[in-house]
This record gives sequence, structure tokens and C-alpha cells, in this order.
Amino acid sequence: MFKDFISNASILITSFFIMGQIFKNMPLRHISPFSTKVYWGLSYGALGNILMLYSIKVSVTTIADLRHLAIVLAAAFGGFIPAIIASVLIALGRIIFFDITSAAIYASIGMIAIGVISGAISKLHYNHTAKAFTMNLGGLFIVTIVLAINVDDPVVLKNILITHYMISLIGGFIAYHTSVYIDRSNDALRELNHLSYRDGLTGIFNRRFFDITIEKEWANCLVKHAPLTLIMFDLDYFKKYNDTYGHLSGDSCLQTIAREINSLIPPESGYTFCRYGGEEFSIIMPFTTQVDGEKFAGSLKKAVQSLKIPHSSSKIADIVTLSIGIAGMVPHPSGEPQELIHKGDSALYTSKTNGRNTISAYH
Ligand code: GH3
Ligand code: MG
Ligand code: MG
Repeated sequence: MFKDFISNASILITSFFIMGQIFKNMPLRHISPFSTKVYWGLSYGALGNILMLYSIKVSVTTIADLRHLAIVLAAAFGGFIPAIIASVLIALGRIIFFDITSAAIYASIGMIAIGVISGAISKLHYNHTAKAFTMNLGGLFIVTIVLAINVDDPVVLKNILITHYMISLIGGFIAYHTSVYIDRSNDALRELNHLSYRDGLTGIFNRRFFDITIEKEWANCLVKHAPLTLIMFDLDYFKKYNDTYGHLSGDSCLQTIAREINSLIPPESGYTFCRYGGEEFSIIMPFTTQVDGEKFAGSLKKAVQSLKIPHSSSKIADIVTLSIGIAGMVPHPSGEPQELIHKGDSALYTSKTNGRNTISAYH
């Protein structure tokens, strides 16, 4: 019996690693979206059912395992919704996968009760770990009642309860801390991933992300025979800006412009706005023609103009202005994204040689 409980605990803990991997980008929290809670609830429900398949046969109709911990963990991390979903799935599994006996019905009612109690405890405001421990105790209390109803032999009942409590408390402790560990590791990975593709000064995407994205969008537009457009722009006389106002003011000017332009990128557009390097930026625009890119570039130029950032040493205006280059093409199999970058660059160069504060398209 002891061995069976240990294998139950092992299944439980191993599953967390798998679930953590599958849901690494949708962590379960009390504030998670409803759909996230549903996915996790279903997974914990499935886990409870797997634990049942490896349960200990106490009598012909009664089984014991650590399925209540699946509900406790769902509640500890995600609150009421995943706890109820998991408990209902486990209750259904208890009836569907095993015979419909009175023992099974009591067990199922017990599971729903654990879901409700754990969900209710999750709403209380005290230490997260202590709440999980209280839920575990509450679950064990319900399990005790169900087993007391279902098991007639007092000696068998005593033995099963002692082992059950021992493994549930130790297993629950390990399971909870393993889940916290996996959750934090995933958080840290997401954060690192985010940071490695962001520019430290402006918070927009960096050159590394630009290089990856242009390759990806090129390949995607190639397959779909769709146009891919690239906008490249550069601040005019920015060296003079630094010389006049200081490097720190230059930094905040770059931040202001990046923020302004970022706010103009429609969220569903699929456009990627990056800091290409220094005071040069780029926007990758898949499924966009060069003509539409030019229109968009016009709105960028206007927006920066209306910021009216003073630039007394600029030779073209008394405010900060942009030179913009645009190139668009339908990717072809023998080409490479560098071709588009080169065209964008040379369009930007045309804007510079034409006196700056202007937009040029590659022809
Ligand atoms: P042009 O109109 O031809 O673009 O002239 P420019 O002075 O803007 O161009 P140049 O390439 O000569 O100088 C770019 C300047 O941008 C030099 C550099 O100090 C400044 N710069 C690049 N990155 C940063 C940054 O992160 N912060 C600040 N403050 N300045 C930066
Ligand atoms: Mg410049
Ligand atoms: Mg430059």
C-alpha cells in the first residue's frame, strides 16, 4: 500500500513538469484569463483521473489515491474555477471508469466538496503556502469521511488513513513546492526571453529581434506570394542634438520618439517596430504594399513633427525630424531578406541626400 501511494505521488509530481512545459506561456494565477483557468482545470482533472488509475484497492468498491491534491493545487494557483472543473472531471471519472456503486457516488460527492472547499479557501487572504496546506487538510478531512462511510473494517480503515495522511501531507508539501518552483522558473524564462529581444533604452524590439523577424516574415510572405514592406528611418542631425543638449537629453528624445511611433502601430497589424541601431529604427510590415507603407510613413513623419521636440542646431528645421526610406517587394525564391534591407537602406540614404526631413521610396 505504501509503495502504491509513493507511485501516486511520483505521477503527481512528474505531471507538473509536463504541465509546466505545455502551459509555459500561460501561467495559472487567480487573475489569469478564464480560458487559461479552463485549460489548467481540465489538465488537473485529467491528472486526478490518471492518479485514480493507479490507486490502491482498499476493498472491492473502494479505492484510495492522491487525486484530491490535483484539486488542491488547481485551487491554490488558480482559485475557484480550475478547482471546480478539476473536481467535476474527477467526480465523473470516478463514476465512468469504475462501476457505479454507492461507494463511487460518495467518493464523487466528496470530490465536488473538495473542489468547493478548496475554491472557497483560495478566496481567503492569507499566506499562499498556508492556504495550500489548509486545502490539503480540508481535502483529507473529506477523504476521511468518504472512506469511513465506504470501509467497514476498522483495522483496514485505520491503516489506510494513516498511510493516506502521511503520503498526502508529505506528497502535498513536495507537490506544492515543485509547482511553485516550476511556475517561478517559467516566469524567469519568460522574463529572460522578453529581455533578450528588447532594447534597453526604448523598450521596443532590438536588432536581434529584427534579424529573426525579417527572416520569418520573408519566408511567410514568400509562401503566400504576399508583399513585404520595410520602413527605415533615422533622426536628422542627431549628433548635433547630443552636442547641443547632452547625451541624456538625446536618450530621452529617442525614448519619446520610440514611444510615439510604437503607439501608432495598430496591435493587430502584424507590424514589428525595432531599434535597428543608434538613432535608426525600422518597421517590418508583412502583407503590406510599398504604397501602403508610404502612407504609413507619412503618418509617422507627421506624428514626430507634432511632438515639436526643439532642435536648435538642426540645419533643416528647429525641431527633431526624421528621414525615412521605404522598400517593398514580393519575396522571390532566389532572393534573401538582405535584398529588402539593402533597398530600404538606400531609400533612406536618398532621403538624407535629398536634404533630410523627407520620405523616399525605393524605385
Ligand atoms: P544625419 O542627419 O545624417 O543622420 O546625422 P546624424 O548626426 O544624425 O548621424 P550620425 O550617424 O553622424 O550620428 C548619429 C548620432 O546618434 C551619433 C550618436 O552619438 C547618436 N546616438 C546613437 N545612439 C545613441 C543613444 O543611444 N543615445 C544618444 N543620446 N545618442 C545616440
Ligand atoms: Mg541621424
Ligand atoms: Mg544614423
